[in-house]
Amino acid sequence: MRPEILFPLFAPVQTLPGIGPRLSGFVSKVCGPNIIDLCWHLPIGFIDRRYSPDVANVLPGSIATIKLKILDHQPPKSRKLPYKVICGDNTGEMELVFFHSRADYLVHMLPVGETRIVSGKVDIFKGKVQMSHPDRIGLPEEASVIQTIEPVYRLTAGLTSKPLLKAIKGALLKTGVLPEWQDLTWLKRQKFPAWRDALLKVHAPKNESDVGNNSTARRRLIYDELLADQLALTIVRSLNRKKSGRIIKSDNGLIKKIMGKLPFELTTGQKGALNEILSDMAEPYRMLRLIQGDVGSGKTVVAFLAMIRAVECQLQAALMAPTEVLVLQHYKTLKPWGEYIGVNIEILTGKDNKAHRKNVLDGLINGDISIIIGTHALLQDDVHFKDLGLAVIDEQHRFGVHQRLMLNEKGKKADMLVMTATPIPRTLMLCAYSDLDSSRLVEKPAGRQEVETRAVPTTRLEEIIDRLKHTLDEGARAFWVCPLVEESELMDLEAATDRYKFLDSRFKGRVGLLHGKMKPSEKEKVMKSFMEGELNILVATTVIEVGVDIPDANIMIVEHAERFGLAQLHQLRGRVGRGIKSSACILMYSNPLSENARARIKILRETDDGFRIAEEDLKLRGAGELLGTRQSGLPVFRMADIVSHQDLMVAAKDDAKLIIERDPYLNSKRGEALRILLYLFQKDNVVQTLRSG
Ligand code: ADP
Ligand code: MG
Repeated sequence: MRPEILFPLFAPVQTLPGIGPRLSGFVSKVCGPNIIDLCWHLPIGFIDRRYSPDVANVLPGSIATIKLKILDHQPPKSRKLPYKVICGDNTGEMELVFFHSRADYLVHMLPVGETRIVSGKVDIFKGKVQMSHPDRIGLPEEASVIQTIEPVYRLTAGLTSKPLLKAIKGALLKTGVLPEWQDLTWLKRQKFPAWRDALLKVHAPKNESDVGNNSTARRRLIYDELLADQLALTIVRSLNRKKSGRIIKSDNGLIKKIMGKLPFELTTGQKGALNEILSDMAEPYRMLRLIQGDVGSGKTVVAFLAMIRAVECQLQAALMAPTEVLVLQHYKTLKPWGEYIGVNIEILTGKDNKAHRKNVLDGLINGDISIIIGTHALLQDDVHFKDLGLAVIDEQHRFGVHQRLMLNEKGKKADMLVMTATPIPRTLMLCAYSDLDSSRLVEKPAGRQEVETRAVPTTRLEEIIDRLKHTLDEGARAFWVCPLVEESELMDLEAATDRYKFLDSRFKGRVGLLHGKMKPSEKEKVMKSFMEGELNILVATTVIEVGVDIPDANIMIVEHAERFGLAQLHQLRGRVGRGIKSSACILMYSNPLSENARARIKILRETDDGFRIAEEDLKLRGAGELLGTRQSGLPVFRMADIVSHQDLMVAAKDDAKLIIERDPYLNSKRGEALRILLYLFQKDNVVQTLRSG
């Protein structure tokens, strides 16, 4: 239950004086439905309305608040002309100018013969002092209210600044002093004000730095937000850990045997990750671990060995991948290894024939099948395991959280391993996945080629084709990636099909086409011809982005590279450079390049380190972009900015960890205040789990 002290803050916006249903609708849209949401709606700027000159002395271009006598109304002679109101003071006359405004409203607001306080931007137009569309018009006694520094807030269509200012003012009046939940030494060191003081200060900016990301008052509120978030994650995580899993450990019999049979040595990174996984599995809690590693860093074999550990313990393992192509690829790699150690590996996709499907389903129930590799077909209701001990998910970002859970639920307290080739920046890891343990495969397996990366404007297409002719004659294999399948009417995207036809006319019979709308069987056929070298060029949409391993492919051409994100381009480039031939990645772009696109291409040319690229990507995209990522499971903060508040994020994580270590149920005095913090940020369900814990 929400503590009483917070009730006023969680009252609907509508309960504020002067906020009717219509206005509260708009306010909800821009900040949220409750009073507290208004408090969190921080200014993005300010307007200084203190400058109050005489008409004769106005500084053109400035914001001025002037006391004026209304002298005359001059309605326009045509719709195109403005409505003018002539006013003045002892020193001179000026015009208030309105376009498309209603006359009756203006007559009401600015009655001739009376005095009004008017505030807005003044200019000199044809020698006359003018103010068009004043921001504020008030009675003389309202002068002091208007003549201030006014915060500026993000608005929405239908909501102007005046009512929002009023609503926020009203909301702030509802706030009271709350018990301090922050550590006092920390507060002092950071010079953070108390919560309510910080709130009041943030909403009354006096200068540029007050509205910046680094104002102490703002940082205080942001730290509250981050701490609430980290605390909630830490609590959930510590409770999950207590939920018992199963102990999966053995003497390595099969693992040792297969290790000797692998065609390569594991890299140090792979060994490290494997050890982390195996020791997690041996613990009595449920494993939830993420393996992060660039394309080609060799995640599959690590997952395979973990699955073998489960098999050693008479348990089953499942590997789920997002596409049939990938599933087939995994199956081809792993099946022979399994055969060597007598482990039965099978495959399940959406397109299996009935007999095969029945065999597989039976084998899973009676335990004949030890490892199953499949698409999301594995999630179907009729798939039952004898005893699933480990669920592995490849390219986890292609699945939703619930799909991950569904696979996991097929076992009894099964351990879970998720893999991603999209490295997650540390900061995001902290805030979005801090309930996950993570292993990073940083180095690449030996023998990986460096990929020469070049950026070439689309206008030089013919040159590219000429060079391609030479390299193809030397046995090269090229991917040619286009952004969309069909010509879009709105954008001049080079359609993959058109490009395919064009290239096929140049390289008769050596070009294949692969796109998302093809049937799986067709896709497979094309992939196979490409893999076996019948085709030398594979024109593809981004369907090849995920996980495909074709060691012979050594050229990657990306059209309209400027339209791809940094991480995506890095993924694409990772498709080549796996074999012995020297490799190249050609980023074709159309001018003019945006600043941002230029930066992306530059970074790609500079580095091949996926982790660094991920950090740069985050910086380039900034938190603004991330606000659009609600669906992707990334957190959306109201105030914090993942990029510029990294220091606070790290501090909040440590703080949360320490708090829960010392006071796991938040029973101390500070613990009680922290519960209020959790409620304040609507982590009610987390506080409830504390109670039941
Ligand atoms: P990803 O991490 O992208 O899933 P894969 O697991 O598909 O990468 O591995 C890419 C390729 O590297 C595969 O052909 C795999 O057999 C090979 N490989 C994996 N580990 C090593 C290693 N330690 N040494 C050499 N090659 C390796
Ligand atoms: Mg992979």
